[in-house]
Order: sequence, then C-alpha cells, then structure tokens
Amino acid sequence: MAKTCAYCDALPPLTREHIWPNGFLKRGNFGVKFSAKANKTFAGDLTISDVCPKCNNGPLSTLDAHACELFDRRFSKFVEAGASVPFTYDYGLLMRWLLKVSFNAARLTGQDVALLSRYRETILADHPCSPAFVAVYVATISPSHMIDSENGTSRKIYPHAARCGPLEIPAIDVSDILVTRCVMINSFMFSLLITRSSGIPTGRVAELLRHIPGVPLALGGRMRIGPPSLPAHVALGGVTAWPKMESRR
Ligand SMILES: [Zn+2]
Repeated sequence: MAKTCAYCDALPPLTREHIWPNGFLKRGNFGVKFSAKANKTFAGDLTISDVCPKCNNGPLSTLDAHACELFDRRFSKFVEAGASVPFTYDYGLLMRWLLKVSFNAARLTGQDVALLSRYRETILADHPCSPAFVAVYVATISPSHMIDSENGTSRKIYPHAARCGPLEIPAIDVSDILVTRCVMINSFMFSLLITRSSGIPTGRVAELLRHIPGVPLALGGRMRIGPPSLPAHVALGGVTAWPKMESRR
C-alpha cells in the first residue's frame, strides 16, 4: 500500500516536513541534528517525508509561522537564574504547534505515534481551538555554571538547543494512563500531558504533577513565567533519546 499523508491520508506525492521550523535554523544557528532511531548525528535538517504539499504549505506552515514569531520575540532570549519573564502567545496556535512537533518527532522515533495521531485533525484545524485531553506546562531553564577542573575557572553554559521527546519522570510510572512529552527551545521547556482516555485517576496524576516543572500554560495567551525551574545541565542531560537540534556555538 502506498504511503499516505500522516495528517490527512492524501495519496502521494508527499513532501518533506521539517521537525523544527526551517525558520529556527536560520534564526538559532542550530547545526547538529540527531536521530535516536538512526542513532547518529546528521549534517542536514531533521525532516520526515510523509506530509502532502497541501498540509505542509497550508495549516502546518501557519503553525510554524507563529512559532518563528515567538522565537524572535521570546525563545531567542535566554532567561537568567532568578528572573521571571512575560510571555504572550496565541494559545490555540501554540498548543497545536507543540502537538505537531511532538507528532513529527514521534513518527521519527516510532514512540507515542498512535496517541499523537489522534490530534491530526486538531493540528490541521484552521480555527482557534483547545485540544481535548491535553494539558501543557511551561517552565524556564537557567544557565549552568560549570567549573573547569584544570584551571578552576567557571563558565556559564546556556541551554542552546531545541529538543523534543518523551519526558520521563523517574519513580513515577503513569504510562498506562497518560503520555508525557517535552518540547524544549533554548530556555523554554513545554511539558505536554496527554491522557489516553477520559476519567483517569486524579490521585496518580496529582503525584505526577508535583514533578512537572513550571506552571500550566495560561488559556488567555498572556502570562509571566516565574524564575527558572531547572538548570541547563539538568535539562540538556535529562533525556537522551529525543530528536534534538543543537547550536554550533
Ligand atoms: Zn495532508
């Protein structure tokens, strides 16, 4: 059977969809790419070749345009330890973009594909909407001070990377009731909690929520994100199996 569009089931021809907006490459000086499935670093951009031109150039590029606007205005600016920052966004566009990046990365690695594919229609919808059974938390990441043991000097390491993948919380396994995914862009970390069905046991979720960094993304599209929840070396070292894009800097 011929491969069809991952979003709308259209027949070929299919095009290459970027995991991260092409605009991020130009803006962020991101260079090294990594595929967990292939277990190697690529010289080129991370793409997946199963999206029809209509989806790629239409609704998906609309979401990327909003993400690039947020990149220019917010994600390109690093957050220092102790600082809180204002954040304004279009809730529906940002939510759907986070789901799109997660779905794209999931297809690349083969993890959580079935659950994320439920959001195909929501991702394509050209009207404001708030996807059901998914909550998003946002947190910031501070630079880490690393000591060079040879000469005793300290330097600041900024979280200069874009990553997406499963968010694993050690000691709390709720994978039977929900999937936790993370999308990280420089100092900004979004945690998606996607429930497998309605009517999940709230006690187990409450336990998980205590370990999710940050606060819920405000529905109104305007919020202040408090001081960073975790340092760069923890955020960058936390998950090893996610498709990532790191800067050449
Ligand atoms: Zn399509």
